[in-house]
Amino acid sequence: MLVLALNCGSSSVKMALIEVEPRSVGAHARRMFDARVEGMGGASCRVHTRDGEIRECEGLSLRAAVSELLEQAGGRARIRDTVQAVAHRVVHGGGELVRPTLIDETSLSTLDSIAALAPLHNPPAAAAIRICRELLPELPHVAVFDTAFHATLPPRAREYALPREVTERFGIRRYGFHGTSHAHVLSAACVHMNATPQELRIISCHLGNGASVAAIEYGRSVETSMGMTPLEGLVMGTRCGDIDPGVLLHLLQSAGFDASALDELLNSRAGLTGLTGTNDMREIERRAARGDEHCRLAITLYAHRIRKYIGAYAAVMGGVEVIAFTGGVGENSALVRHRCMQRLDFLGAVLDEDANRDAGFDEFGVACISEEYSRTRLLVVRADEESAIAGDAAELLARRDADRATGMASARIPVAISARHAHLSQATIDRLFGPGYVLRQRAALSQPGQFAAQESVALIGPGGRIDGVRVLGPPRVHDQIEISRTDEFTLGVDAPVRISGDLLNTPGITLEGPRGRVTLPNGLISARRHIHMSPEDAALFGVRDCDTVQVKLDTDGRDLIFGDVMVRVSPDFNLEMHLDTDEANAAGVKQGDEGELILRGASDAFSRDGR
Ligand code: ADP
Repeated sequence: MLVLALNCGSSSVKMALIEVEPRSVGAHARRMFDARVEGMGGASCRVHTRDGEIRECEGLSLRAAVSELLEQAGGRARIRDTVQAVAHRVVHGGGELVRPTLIDETSLSTLDSIAALAPLHNPPAAAAIRICRELLPELPHVAVFDTAFHATLPPRAREYALPREVTERFGIRRYGFHGTSHAHVLSAACVHMNATPQELRIISCHLGNGASVAAIEYGRSVETSMGMTPLEGLVMGTRCGDIDPGVLLHLLQSAGFDASALDELLNSRAGLTGLTGTNDMREIERRAARGDEHCRLAITLYAHRIRKYIGAYAAVMGGVEVIAFTGGVGENSALVRHRCMQRLDFLGAVLDEDANRDAGFDEFGVACISEEYSRTRLLVVRADEESAIAGDAAELLARRDADRATGMASARIPVAISARHAHLSQATIDRLFGPGYVLRQRAALSQPGQFAAQESVALIGPGGRIDGVRVLGPPRVHDQIEISRTDEFTLGVDAPVRISGDLLNTPGITLEGPRGRVTLPNGLISARRHIHMSPEDAALFGVRDCDTVQVKLDTDGRDLIFGDVMVRVSPDFNLEMHLDTDEANAAGVKQGDEGELILRGASDAFSRDGR
């Protein structure tokens, strides 16, 4: 498949034409051409043509830059005839856009709504997508998100130790960045090691102007050094990385900094620039060699931070098979690699100094720089984000085409994870929260009219209590409390597995609210796993209300087929499968993942498209 890949930054756009197979990412890809525009909008704007020439073009706008690159790629008519898709790299996908996404008006407006999470990067990427869709309306456009690779971070690596009301209210969490680059390192390492992702624990060090480390445990990102924003972690070109938050408070409270001065300090004047006056590692190395103390300190501080993360991430994963370097510094600086790898013999990582000084890439853009006897393989990987996003786009389109071929446009079912919750009658609400109390909406739920309320209650059983159980609205005729198997142990109760509303002969439970306690005579259940769908979806899938089906969850290492999934059909329903937290944990499912409905009578196929 031929994919045109576009990588749009705040002042540069890179374009590459990539031949790539659907299931491959990066290392299997072949670049047919690339070109880029740097310094957009400025006086020293440069076009790097496909022939390797550099042309100065003053003040090129984003639209002019994209048009110029499309000309370099052979012109619009030719692209339309030969290319199957356009892949766009987008830095931030927020909590919602966690997989490669076919661009339409809905996904574009979701993208707009999260612009504030990456104000320097997302708006130009969204603008470039709009321009490309206008210029190439016949082609499918796919957005691939840098944060998506880290959607697998477990809660312990994703959360900051802040009160939940703060993190939830302000959307504070760790996302991680450079995902396409780390994904490329993963696939390149697999090719080089002749291994599958499930066999390798990799520490991937992306050292460019921005820099981050990722711990990739058997194919999944489980830790990464950048957090909610790209400021956390390593020392970078102009960012300081990890810093005591108390320093920021001190600068704000006692040193005359305001928010914008602090922003400028942390994003533009810190890191290597702050230590030495330049962010160019080549220059810093030259000056250090001549005896400049500031540059010497900068290099040791830079490498020390990386070494610290490598040690930490080996501990996080309980071992490491591959340590890889990529990005401008990672690929080119033998000195930095040498310093990072000092004293890591205890990890079984031994640098081959000659190979490190003269790291020559193989045909897949990988160089091995470890001694033959080194237990941990040390690699240098040529960064190739364009191939990675092209691979992701190709995979998405191949799936879509397979769906179309079988006439099953959406055998995939979005999965929602239901934490324990309470549906209450107005009478119970009155007794728990006060007479005539009206639930306040906290967040809309995907099923029309349903919402998570701001209110919560405590559940009290003979074995213990669980606080903070979310109340869902609007009020119902009957009280119904849904808990998981794990909750049963905590509370010391048995909750039968029931479909919502089937409350005959169910046990009760005591609820506690701010204004009183209520002991329900019944209504406690463990929700039977189910799929909500509209009559149109049911017709498409060939199922009826109350049918029992199977759904396959493909989740990188914890794949699981759920049986006993009950179909619930109503014109009021949106397509969605509901699992409780125990079920989701067992399958390693995250909010927003998709399952595949398994066809009744399908012979060897797990799903409607035969995968
Ligand atoms: P970006 O994150 O902007 O894509 P790059 O990945 O191109 O940045 O990395 C830029 C960094 O790589 C700069 O600090 C540059 O000095 C450094 N770099 C490039 N070549 C070398 C080299 N031969 N030796 C040391 N550092 C290098």
